Amino acid sequence: MTLATGRPPRTRYLTVVDPATGEAFDEAPDLRPEELDAVVDRARTAWHGWRADPAARRTALLAAADAVDGAATALGPLLTREQGKPLAESYAEVARTAARLRYFAGLDIEAQPVEDDRPVRSRLRWRPLGPVAAIVPWNFPLQLASAKFAPALAAGNTVVLKPSPFTPLATRMLGSVLAGALPEGVLTIVTGREPLGARLASHPGIRHVTFTGSAATGRAVAAGAAASLARVTLELGGNDAAVLLDDVDVEEIADRLFWAAFRNCGQVCMAVKRVYAPSRLHARVVEALAHRATTTAVGPGLDPAARLGPVSNAPQLARVEHRTARALADGARAAAGGHRLDRPGYFFAPTILAGVPADSPVVTEEQFGPVLPVLPYDSLDEAVRAANGTGFGLGGSVWGTDLDRAAAVADRLECGTAWLNHHAELSLAQPFAGAKDSGVGVAGGPWGLYGNLQPFVVHRPEEA
Ligand code: NAD
Repeated sequence: MTLATGRPPRTRYLTVVDPATGEAFDEAPDLRPEELDAVVDRARTAWHGWRADPAARRTALLAAADAVDGAATALGPLLTREQGKPLAESYAEVARTAARLRYFAGLDIEAQPVEDDRPVRSRLRWRPLGPVAAIVPWNFPLQLASAKFAPALAAGNTVVLKPSPFTPLATRMLGSVLAGALPEGVLTIVTGREPLGARLASHPGIRHVTFTGSAATGRAVAAGAAASLARVTLELGGNDAAVLLDDVDVEEIADRLFWAAFRNCGQVCMAVKRVYAPSRLHARVVEALAHRATTTAVGPGLDPAARLGPVSNAPQLARVEHRTARALADGARAAAGGHRLDRPGYFFAPTILAGVPADSPVVTEEQFGPVLPVLPYDSLDEAVRAANGTGFGLGGSVWGTDLDRAAAVADRLECGTAWLNHHAELSLAQPFAGAKDSGVGVAGGPWGLYGNLQPFVVHRPEEA
């Protein structure tokens, strides 16, 4: 692009803040929305070669996975620096990114005969869609990006990937690492402030918009994509309930339950965000979780002793603070935490809330932070009704000793994935799809691959 004066525009930059200090430490290009036209054009040009040779694609994706593993010692610390999570979790995220590339590289795209009682022989084949837009949030920048680009690329599409402006750096480094394995233009990383994402979602050259983020932004993305009738896959927020049954062994499950809520500082779409405990066990559950909240080491993610890092960015810290303050003003009691930590950076004390009114926003909305309300219930019907009582439907879990009984309760949860005695663990091979306001379309496993493909059928007369 050139300006009216004939000079190229000066590159603008985004400042990237380390949440462990609250201070800026690096920057990334702040692309102008109109600069996307050239990026999408290049993605379309690259598509013609990339779609043509599935065997070469597989080889490239496997090489890409090896390159990601090889770059782990550079990617992990940078991810921690910009996102805040403990280094071990960043390394796990890098490993998951490589594993996802290998998983999708290994899937075959199957042609199938189509049943037809007329004298025709029809075969269902699958074709790639074209350039795909991948828009991701800041909580798992690499892992969620790979959940989009790995199946899209394996299907023979090219990808324009936009990370969150809060966490552009590890994704840009990942882009450089992958550039060694993938042909030019097959995967392009673009970084910048809004309306860059809005422009990408509604770009006429994009054929599939795959988005992970909040429900509110998901609605805007779907409306934008409607302009070009691009396909949308939306993985949105969650407000997962954990329902504890009366035969639960509180001490046995307390660690798993705590980490299902607090991993990555609670900034996980499918974290446990509400706990429902039988009234007679409520105090014990609160005490067991509060004990873990007060004894877990909180600190900068680069400190090997830290099990919990800071909240990832200032606006999110403000939301967490506001929701907690509101719950306390509504009569809740903080059995642990309830406040920011008195130190630089965006640290919030791991918080367990009891006595929270059922209509407090920390219960009805997604807190997405290190704060967990524990609510008592008297009848199982009441607990299931409350668990299903929000617009979200991402996941849910049931905890107890009798697994058949727990499974019967799990069947009543309105969500895409339910777990017994654990939460938020996913296999690469399983479908991942939120119910209700938590999503549209299916990611994960073969469903994620086929979501990036167009069915194509040729009807051919039966030969005599
Ligand atoms: P967000 O919706 O604010 O932003 C997500 C992405 O969309 C970012 O890259 C952002 O820059 C971009 N964006 C913002 N406005 C846009 C617009 N109008 N059009 C297009 N793109 C736009 O979400 P966030 O705060 O970054 O992430 C937290 C949210 O993500 C939470 O609600 C969480 O539950 C959700 N999430 C969901 C899943 C899932 O798989 N279901 C996984 C992780 C996070």
